[in-house]
Amino acid sequence: AVRLDNVSFSYGEASFLFNVQFAASRITAIMGPSGSGKSTLLNLVAGFEAPGSGRVLIGEADVSAAPPSARPVSMVFQENNLFAHLSVERNVGLGRSPSLSLTDVDREAIAGALQRVGLAGKESRLPRELSGGERQRVALARVLVRDRPVLLLDEPFASLGPALRDDMLDLLASVHAERKMTVLFVTHQPEDARRIGQNMVFLDNGTVAEAGTAADFFDGSGPEAFRRYIGSGP
Ligand code: ATP
Ligand code: MG
Repeated sequence: AVRLDNVSFSYGEASFLFNVQFAASRITAIMGPSGSGKSTLLNLVAGFEAPGSGRVLIGEADVSAAPPSARPVSMVFQENNLFAHLSVERNVGLGRSPSLSLTDVDREAIAGALQRVGLAGKESRLPRELSGGERQRVALARVLVRDRPVLLLDEPFASLGPALRDDMLDLLASVHAERKMTVLFVTHQPEDARRIGQNMVFLDNGTVAEAGTAADFFDGSGPEAFRRYIGSGP
């Protein structure tokens, strides 16, 4: 599980997260208006940034204690997850090692992951020879071969149409059922959060306006600020 313990964060003089406190397990959907601090929060959990005060814990360990390559997280962004000049196989291979030379064991693991996301046989394609949905599948395959206990997703399916998005959500839910990693899933789409999220965090202006189970958020009696937010559209 991931725990934020009284975390605050500033860029220069300006503060963007204030005393953020919550624990995330299973699939935790993170929602909130644009600029509320969702990406900043994921960057802290990934260890790309360090909190000004407070602590980010994964299990019992402070994230900043581990060197970047040893941090127990992997991340998928909204787009530009792939290296344009590298084949699908090599892009996925980067999840296993930063080296571009692949062993037979690597190749087998990569082939297994590509099979899992429905891209068997596309190992030698370049990213530009794939659809947007296929590219996000490659990013997911890289996460699978990396096999870390925490998966951070920053609006990973936002550029996809509704049908593809549903496919990806189903794939993500089934991967989660197999691997049981903790997923922090940033999304602007309430339906997506409702479909696969077990827990929810609603950020507003850099603070946790509300945290709870997805069931509580969506049963109609959910937090007022959240209802206003989804009522007004993203
Ligand atoms: P969106 O839904 O639009 O992606 P978000 O909730 O992910 O928004 P963040 O990207 O976390 O929001 O940004 C939170 C605040 O931090 C914003 O006011 C943003 O302008 C500011 N911010 C983000 N990155 C930087 C940076 N590198 N330098 C200065 N300010 C930044
Ligand atoms: Mg963001």
